[in-house]
Amino acid sequence: MPELPEVETVRRGLEPAMVGARFTRVIQRRPDLRFPFPERFVERLEGQEVTALGRRAKYLLADLSSGEVLVMHLGMSGRFLVMQDGATRMPGEFHHEHGGLGAHDHVVFGLSNGATITYNDARRFGFMDLVPRSGIETSKHFAGMGIEPLGNELSGETIARLFAGKRTPLKAALLDQRLIAGLGNIYVCEALFRTGLHPEAPAGSLVTKKGEPTDKAHQLADIIRDVLAEAVEAGGSTLRDHAQVDGSLGYFQHSFRVYDRENEPCVTPDCTGTVTRLVQSGRSTFYCPECQKRS
Ligand SMILES: [Zn+2]
Repeated sequence: MPELPEVETVRRGLEPAMVGARFTRVIQRRPDLRFPFPERFVERLEGQEVTALGRRAKYLLADLSSGEVLVMHLGMSGRFLVMQDGATRMPGEFHHEHGGLGAHDHVVFGLSNGATITYNDARRFGFMDLVPRSGIETSKHFAGMGIEPLGNELSGETIARLFAGKRTPLKAALLDQRLIAGLGNIYVCEALFRTGLHPEAPAGSLVTKKGEPTDKAHQLADIIRDVLAEAVEAGGSTLRDHAQVDGSLGYFQHSFRVYDRENEPCVTPDCTGTVTRLVQSGRSTFYCPECQKRS
């Protein structure tokens, strides 16, 4: 499943092909993906210019000249293929092998700059919607959504405000989308490891009695942003060119320090610990019992 850094990588790959261009032709090949497409989807897109391409948590947001926003979510397996300047720049994917559209190519955007962007989604957990820009924060996708972890909103103070008095395990609190939006399992494990925090410590332990952030709260905020920024950076460097923008960028696995390393020696210099897996709310947590002691 694409996590937040992969979605940001996709956004950066799509941006040069979409922003400033008009939808000249839109092909919608099914009535639905995970959810039905909005009414008159094609009609509401054709002729509109994309004025900006943003991201909120794991949603891509294309601002249209009509005042609506095209909201796109990649679900489990969604990806975009961008073709520009003819066949020579088409990536060497299965796409070529049978020519034309594949069975899982559900939406095709033709743009006024000559680019063709195809949305492919084998499992169809992704979706697209059209929402007025003016009401986006209160629309069904975004109402009640937590803060953006890659932005400046995330700080020690914010963590203190969100976690004060919470007995929930830290891991669960960090995955709670109503507090911080779009932070996935992999990056939470990595951030807790680098900060030296036990995943089962109560979330409220990052807050002093006076309601102020502890040193660890400040560190955690910085480290979350670093871990995500490094992953975005790694994703950016794997984009061969903007002709290929798929969500399957290998998840930068070589750079994980604890995630999926059960029984391997801890990577911290001089640490004799072994990476351990525990299950929290049905999901695997990886941590080093030596570096991440329960205080
Ligand atoms: Zn260790």
